[in-house]
Parts: sequence; structure tokens; C-alpha cells
Amino acid sequence: MKRIVAALVGNPNSGKSSLFNLITGSHQHVGNYPGVTVEKKEGVCVHKGHEILFVDLPGTYSLTAYSEEEIITRRFVQEDRPDVVVDVVDASNIERNLYLGTQLIEMNAPLVFAFNMSDLAKRRGLVFDLEQLSRLLEARIVPTVGSKGEGREALLDAIVETAREGRKPRIHGLNYGGEIEEELARVESVVLSQEKELADKYGSRWVALKLIEQDDEIVGKVQHKEVLDVVTKSVFHLRGIFRDEPEIILADRRYGFISGACQETIKNSVERRHDASDVIDAIVTNRVLGLPIFLLLMYTVFWLTFTLGEYPMLGLEWCFGRLGAAVSGLWPAGSDSWLRSLLVDGAIAGVGGVVIFLPNILLLFLAIAMLEDTGYMARAAFVMDRIMHKIGLHGKSFIPMLIGFGCSVPAIMATRILENRRNRLTTIMVIPLMSCGARLTIYSLIIPAFFTPHWRGPVMWLVYLIGILLAVICAKALRLTVFQGDTTPFVMELPPYRMPTPRSIAIHMWQRSWMFLKKAGTVILWISVVLWVLASFPKPAPERLVGLDREHAQQVALEYSVIGRVGRFVEPAIRPLGFDWRIGTALIGSVAAKEVFVSQLGIVYATHTDNNADALREKLQAHYTPLVGFCIMLFSLIATPCFATVAMTRQETRSWRWAAFQFIGLTVLAYVITLVVFQVGRFLT
Ligand code: GDP
Ligand code: MG
Repeated sequence: MKRIVAALVGNPNSGKSSLFNLITGSHQHVGNYPGVTVEKKEGVCVHKGHEILFVDLPGTYSLTAYSEEEIITRRFVQEDRPDVVVDVVDASNIERNLYLGTQLIEMNAPLVFAFNMSDLAKRRGLVFDLEQLSRLLEARIVPTVGSKGEGREALLDAIVETAREGRKPRIHGLNYGGEIEEELARVESVVLSQEKELADKYGSRWVALKLIEQDDEIVGKVQHKEVLDVVTKSVFHLRGIFRDEPEIILADRRYGFISGACQETIKNSVERRHDASDVIDAIVTNRVLGLPIFLLLMYTVFWLTFTLGEYPMLGLEWCFGRLGAAVSGLWPAGSDSWLRSLLVDGAIAGVGGVVIFLPNILLLFLAIAMLEDTGYMARAAFVMDRIMHKIGLHGKSFIPMLIGFGCSVPAIMATRILENRRNRLTTIMVIPLMSCGARLTIYSLIIPAFFTPHWRGPVMWLVYLIGILLAVICAKALRLTVFQGDTTPFVMELPPYRMPTPRSIAIHMWQRSWMFLKKAGTVILWISVVLWVLASFPKPAPERLVGLDREHAQQVALEYSVIGRVGRFVEPAIRPLGFDWRIGTALIGSVAAKEVFVSQLGIVYATHTDNNADALREKLQAHYTPLVGFCIMLFSLIATPCFATVAMTRQETRSWRWAAFQFIGLTVLAYVITLVVFQVGRFLT
């Protein structure tokens, strides 16, 4: 059986993943490109005695060397030399999509075009002369409908045939016109004579093109200064003639080529000035209405997520409660078996505490999948882009940040809608600053304890606001330092609205939710166990507990445990923040999940068993000042994202380094800010 490697390339949203899923079915493997965090999907399919290995490359509009995605795609095509490159084109938006195709033609890749979305193209009245267009592009063209599975066989046939022919020189390729061709020839000849290695590897014409475009990556590979001298002269000459950068002129020529090819081969059978898409766009991207509509839609999404999600959530909570009780029942009543405690208080409570969010997550991803697949998300990004750009982020970053007010875990997963890696990493880093629902439990404990009813609302609002402001500042700072550069020329494309297919929505929703269950589930399981161990061992000698009631015994045991000792140990360090060892212990516990802060403090103050928040508030009032109360909230807001968040950051960035950077960075930030607030506050009062 002959093995064929086929690379799938295409613009974002052209239906690449749909085709990939369709062709490879369940024989998929998701990995990672070496050294970077961009996902690498591979899948196999057998067709007419050939085993075809498909690689789904990141979506890009172009193959310059500006972004990670572009570089990965370009390297794969040039260096791994797949037998066939399949360019997935949105046939309903052909001129823009073919730009990538022209660059593949320049690379002389063995090409097949999948004219996807051909159903939409037809509906829009586009009629292609595929035979003629195929001649112009010198590649096979197969119309497909990725969402319905049309064109699969024909596409596979074309791939096998193209692979069989192998790489062959193109007859006409792309012509850039007199002056440019002259300079290209000059550079190409010096490349051929001086840079044999580059020419062999990439093709001399392509190297010449990239040199004239002043492509950093290729320029950096040139060994001989004479070559660069020739290039500099050519570039200077071209700039003089065109009064513009050669890179831009070449891009113009490519568009010219496309527009020429399309004019010849595509007819628009129906004249439609205003289609429905334009009308909707006029409203939802309106300068005045756009933002309120977006906010309203988002509000609806959250409202639905949290109200509809509540019932199944209560159900799940009940199930975990029953499970805990059932496991507990395996031991005689009153038994203090450590295994029982490990299973019930550690594993079941820990995993249950997270899994109960599954309904919320499913609903949220359902809503996002719908907004994405209909095409609205692109508009939302467009509306938010102006604001988000100011802090160096993409309009789409707004959505995960909003989700962060619910829970950082799905929010970090939602950053997958961001195509650009730096934007994505920056967004992930600042998401924990969005005050999540779990932190609300801390605020609800502290605020009534220290503030009069009159002040409660404003204080809460202030805490949230501080989080948002810090996120904005941190995002900007990260973009200027760690994630700097990469101002990819960005065209906000507004794809036409589409009716989403239930299948694709179900797949999108399920893929994300499954990841949540699987990865977060396993990591959380063992972290819960570890925290349980730390809070349970070592146990004080039984005689020390003699005569104490259950609450006090618990309190003594906690103080004696590793967590209690660590709390004591860090006390000197957190003293300048106004915290004592009790708060320290609770803060350490809150790393498992922010809610744990409240229950840990309850144990420390032995108000745990009556489960009475007011009793705990009285203790707090007696022991601390309102300033300390505020500092607790401030520290919990900024510091140490919970372990589920850390695990999710690790998973999504595929690097412990980024997860550690986030964890340590936020903790240090929290320490510094709380320190300043407490010291200044103490000085003033
Ligand atoms: P990718 O970004 O290139 O991977 O694109 P996706 O595969 O995620 O597809 C984007 C959207 O287009 C999804 O909602 C698909 O269901 C939809 N889609 C994909 N192919 C077609 C098609 O041929 N026709 C129509 N109408 N929709 C499609
Ligand atoms: Mg995709």
C-alpha cells in the first residue's frame, strides 16, 4: 500500500476542520508542533489502495513569516514536503481565499483545491468554469461541501492522482510583470550561483521572491553578502519605480492574478445588491447599536447558562452527595477510617466540586458554538476590536474574559477561538483577574462582616473593578514585553451568515466539554487527594484530643496538619499584609478551589460544624479590622489561580512554564499590591 502525506491548508473558517473530520473520521490524533503551542491534528484514511495521512495545518490567510501559524504552515509545506497540499477554499468568497493559493503556487507545491462551501456559492449565484480555472491555476479543483460530506470521493481521487504525478514544474505560474520579473531574474541567478543549498531546498525562484519581499526568515538564511547586496539594489530600484515596498507590490500582483483568473471563469448569475447578510450586518456592526446588541446577547448567554444550568447542577450535586453517603456507608457509623475520609472528603468532594459545573460548561459552549457557526462571533469581534486593540488584544479576547467572571476554567478553554498565539497566551494569563463565581463566596463572607449595608454594594463593585483594571494593565504590559511584536496585518473578515448544522455544533460543544471532563477531571482528582493528605496528616496524638468536642478536635487536627504548619510557617511573610496563620491556612486551602477558603476558615474558627456564616463573621469581626477584610478580598482576587485554572492553563498552553509563570506572577502581584494597600491603609487610619 502506498502512503501519501496530504497537508490541509486554508483560511480560518474555510471549513478545513470539517473536511478533515469528514475524511479521517475517527482515525485522528491530536498532538502539538514541536516547540510551540499550536495544535497539530493528524488523521489517516484509506482510499483505493493508498493510505493517506492528513495533516490539518493552522488556518492562515497568507504565508508570510509574521505569525506562528504562518511559519508552521509554510515550514510544513516547504520542509516536510507533503506529497499533496490541499488548499481548502471558501468558494463563496473566492477572491480573498485564493490569495493563499497563489503563494502555494509560488512554492510549486503539488496542489489540489477543494472549493468548499460550494453550496453557499451556488446559493449566491456563482457559477464556476472549473475546467478553465483549473488550467489557470494548474491544479485540480474539486467542489466540496464539508458540512454535508459532498465531494469526499472526488477529492480523494484528486489527491491520489496529484500525488502520483509528483512535483512538476508549472508552465506559467504567476507573472509579476516586466520590472519585477527582471529583478527576480537577477536575484534568482545570484541565488543559484551562490546559495546552492537554499535554491535546492526551496527552489530558486521562491527564494528570490522572498528576498525581494525582505522576508526575515529567508534573509536570515543567506550566507553570502554579495547576494544581499544584489537584493538591496533590486529592492531599492523597485521602490524607486513603484514608490512602495516590494512586498506590497507583490501582494497587489497576486490579487491581480486572482482577479483576472476569476473574471475569466466565474459568472454571477444573479445580481444581488443587498443580501440578508448585509442587512443584518448594517445593524449588528452599527457604530451605535453594535456594542449594546453584543452586550445584550452576551448577557443573555450568561443568564441562560447559569439559570438553565442550575437544575442539572443541583442534580449532579445531589448525585455526588449520594455517592459520598453511599461510600461513607461502607464503614460503620462514626468510624474515622482514613480511607473513608480520603474517598469521601478528598476524591469525591474534590472531583464532584468541579464536575458539577459541567452543565454550565455544556450550555456555554453550546451558545458559543452557535454564535461562532452562524458567523456572529466575527461581528462581535469586529465590534469589540476597537476597544480591545488599545490594550493590544484582539476583539475576540473579550469573550473568554467575560466568561472568566463565571469561571476561569471554561474561559481559558474559550480562548481557542483566538487564532493568534500571542493574543491567546496574553488572554489566558489575565483571565484569572476576572473575578470568578467561586471568589464570590469569599466576598459574600467578608463584606457583610466588615461593611455596613450601605457600603456593601460599592465595595463589591470596587473589587470587581480592580480586577478588570489590573487585567487591562497586565495585558498591555505583557504585550509590550513577553508577548511583544507580531502586529500581523489583520483584515477583519466578515463571513456571510450561515445556518449552523446541528452536527457541527454538537461536535464543537462535545469536543470542548469532553476535554474539560477528561483533563481537568484527572488532574483535579489527584490534587484533591494531595490537599486532603496535607490537611489530614500528620495527626495529633489521640491524648491531645481527649475531652475536646468534635469541632475543637478538628481545629487542633488542622493546626497540627501540614497545611496548618505551612500556615504557621508563612505567617511572618504574610504578616505585613495583615494576615495571621489562620488566614494563611485558609488561603493555602483556597488554592484547591477558592470556595475552600470559607470552609477552611470555618474549621480554624470552629464554626464549621454549625455551618453558620454569621458565627464565622462574628469571629472575623472580633479578630480583624475592615482593612484586613478588604486585603483578604484583594489578595484572593489577584493571587494564585486555583489548581483547576493552573491545570487548564497547562493544558491549553501545553507548557508548565506558562502555567507557573501565571501562578507565580499573579501571586507576586497580589503580594505587592496587598502589601501597599495594607501599609498605606494602616498609615492613614
Ligand atoms: P476551519 O476554521 O477552516 O477549520 O472551519 P470549520 O471546519 O470549523 O468550519 C467553519 C464553519 O463552516 C462550520 O460551522 C462548518 O459547519 C461550516 N461549513 C464547513 N464546510 C461547509 C460547507 O461546505 N458549506 C456550508 N454551508 N458550511 C460549511
Ligand atoms: Mg479549524
